[in-house]
Amino acid sequence: MKTLDRTTETGVKMLQNYIGGRWVPSTGETQPVINPATGETVSHVPLSTAEDVAAAVQAAQQAFAGWKDVPPIDRARYMFALRDRLVEHRDELARLVTIEHGKTLADAQGSVQRAIENVEVAAGIPSLMMGYGLRNGAGTNIDEEAVRRPLGVFAAVAPFNFPMMVPFWFMPYAITTGNTFIVKPSEQDPGSMARVFELIDEIGFPPGVVNLVNGARGTVDALLDHPQIRGISFVGSTAVARYIYARAAANGKRVQAAGGAKNVMVVMPDADLDKTIPNIINSAFGSSGQRCLAGSIVVPVGPVREELRQRLVEAIGQIKVGNGLDEGVTMGPVISETARDRIVQAIENGRQEGAELVTGGHAVQPEEGGYFVEPTLFDNVRPEMQLAQTEIFGPVLAMIPVESLDAAIDVIDGSPYGNAASIFTEHGGWAREFQTRLDVGNVGINIGVAAPMAYFPFGGARDSFFGTQHGQGRDAIDFFTDRQVVITRWFGGESGAHW
Ligand code: NAD
Repeated sequence: MKTLDRTTETGVKMLQNYIGGRWVPSTGETQPVINPATGETVSHVPLSTAEDVAAAVQAAQQAFAGWKDVPPIDRARYMFALRDRLVEHRDELARLVTIEHGKTLADAQGSVQRAIENVEVAAGIPSLMMGYGLRNGAGTNIDEEAVRRPLGVFAAVAPFNFPMMVPFWFMPYAITTGNTFIVKPSEQDPGSMARVFELIDEIGFPPGVVNLVNGARGTVDALLDHPQIRGISFVGSTAVARYIYARAAANGKRVQAAGGAKNVMVVMPDADLDKTIPNIINSAFGSSGQRCLAGSIVVPVGPVREELRQRLVEAIGQIKVGNGLDEGVTMGPVISETARDRIVQAIENGRQEGAELVTGGHAVQPEEGGYFVEPTLFDNVRPEMQLAQTEIFGPVLAMIPVESLDAAIDVIDGSPYGNAASIFTEHGGWAREFQTRLDVGNVGINIGVAAPMAYFPFGGARDSFFGTQHGQGRDAIDFFTDRQVVITRWFGGESGAHW
């Protein structure tokens, strides 16, 4: 049923919600979705109201009654169908991500691929969802088992930076375990999720099993306050993650809330710089630094500092800034005019607090429009500076030179965030010490972007994650199920049938 493309009077697409197996208009206001590489309006997105949210929850709650009893192997078959559709439309989905987010097509394709991998993992739900049992576990002839059961309606609230991928950290696991689901994409780039739901519609899930509600903070508040929603999965900035965690928990819900980051890349004196430099450049400037795993601080240890700085400057000079759809472009725009101005202001603040601006530092204004910032490197940054403490979420790399691995680890320990950290070295002992001493969720050893595969949890520590179970893999199975214990005794069983 293709009713998504209701166009406005100006001919621009008006997005709708997908509730109970149908495309429905929202009762809320709308706002434009902008292509950040050109400044053009791509579509209008509704800011759904509490009424819209209530309709989605009602549809999901009704669907839960039947869906929870569908055999897991049959629920898994929907994942095979979804996987096929996503693979078939992989390039189209990636283009939609690039048009609304700005990242290069290659980056967008990688994110679609990760979404697909989560569907593939969730297709194994009959094995993943198994509980465990122990014959005579509670006494002679008394057996005990723990059975995983779904809980009801769950919802995910997603960030702008991985509009297509992040909902897939949760949705495939939630629905294959027998729950029903509502996705609330970022209002800044909702188009790829809208397309995913067209594909979901073609597959024909039972109505209400999976729903799409567009919107912004008011929509999120309605989700947080709805009594029938059993759990919330959130990914976004730390301030909002903290708020979501508190409000959803106060309303009795399960919550997993991933927040912001300030990831450190340590370069030891023995690092293989030919291989390390491309890793650092990709981590810091890929997606214009708008990844939660972006390395935004580089810490050279000891004598490697001068050569590292010089080679980073050379490599930054090779970055081609432009529209992510264009061949040869290696860094796209930032998400919005507001983001561009915020990033440029953070750069200015860095200069004022005494860091050395080595290269970049300005907004770029191409004739075609769009919101671009030069790839920027600071040196002589100190750990207590705002440049080192605050998430900028733009193409800005801060260099903090130190003289020992201990001092490098102190830099990481001194950050409020604990999403990821990387070390570049050929020395196993240093790498092991680094790995074991850190309080961070993802550690890269000679890896600049330590992004967990779909069958591993996407963790985070300190201000980067609030909750217990993470997205993806077994953690997701735990989050979306309750372990019900059943203890069984049969009084007449010992001597066979008698009546
Ligand atoms: P954001 O916090 O502004 O928005 C995230 C979502 O929350 C959006 O859907 C938005 O509509 C909603 N929202 C925004 N303000 C709200 C409010 N006051 N109340 C309720 N809901 C609100 O984040 P963003 O700018 O879209 O995404 C970038 C951030 O996400 C960065 O901080 C980045 O580090 C983080 N991120 C973290 C991870 C991770 O795994 N830790 C992954 C991706 C992104």
